[in-house]
Amino acid sequence: MFEFFVVCFLGLIFGSFANVCIYRMPRNMSVVKPNSHCISCNAFIKWYDNIPIVSYIFLKGKCRRCKSKISLKYPLVEFSCVILFLSMYYLYGFAFMLIPFCLLVFSLLVTTIIDFEFKIIPDEISFMLMIVGFFTSFFNLNLGETIGQRVLNSFLGFLVGGGSLFIIAVIGKFIFKKDAMGGGDIKVMAGVGTFIGWDKVLFAIFVASLFGSIVGIILIICKKIGRKQEIPFGPYLALSSFLTLFLSPQMIINYLFMLEEKFFLKYLLIDLQNF
Ligand SMILES: [Zn+2]
Repeated sequence: MFEFFVVCFLGLIFGSFANVCIYRMPRNMSVVKPNSHCISCNAFIKWYDNIPIVSYIFLKGKCRRCKSKISLKYPLVEFSCVILFLSMYYLYGFAFMLIPFCLLVFSLLVTTIIDFEFKIIPDEISFMLMIVGFFTSFFNLNLGETIGQRVLNSFLGFLVGGGSLFIIAVIGKFIFKKDAMGGGDIKVMAGVGTFIGWDKVLFAIFVASLFGSIVGIILIICKKIGRKQEIPFGPYLALSSFLTLFLSPQMIINYLFMLEEKFFLKYLLIDLQNF
């Protein structure tokens, strides 16, 4: 029970920090200074008005000074971070690997929302993932049985995660004469690859492309977006990367073959017809 509360507490703290990153990183502001302030009246927020989730409820979602509405996004991000941290606790227990994997899901959460709102993925997040993922790979049981295997798989994850999206970007540019894939997507998946290894990262990209295309096609059919409009790919990559954490390597291999046989050709045809 003690461990559960520690994980919840850290989830709230990091969820609160996630909100700071989401607001400041795309605006090129420092994430450490200055302290939090209201985005309407600029008043600094006192510590007792800055308690994750709790303060939002007590203030009824309004700034104490200017009474302007505080977005529901803030408590939702904090709550999501708690759930994500608890899911990592469920997978890894109260052990060393809980730390890097909490950092991973924290990064995926921040990436999802920043990419959705601003269509960029900050480099700080991607580089942090590469460094943390690679230097904790020795202890990462997902990556292999021996230390040598784990370090190698982490490095291959970096190459395959970044490389496969880079190849898609080059082909996309060649065929469609426009940027189909952002550099941010390439870097963040290189970072994610160091955590989950080459097979899972490949699977994650596969699933993200599938989901992304299906949603994109539905949005085009429903006339919510135009054909030329850019759709952020980061949220799909983040979601599918998160899901792979719950799959065993054997499941991944089975899925990859199944997808290749059943879906890949059909889906490629739909994709080509749409361009
Ligand atoms: Zn205010």
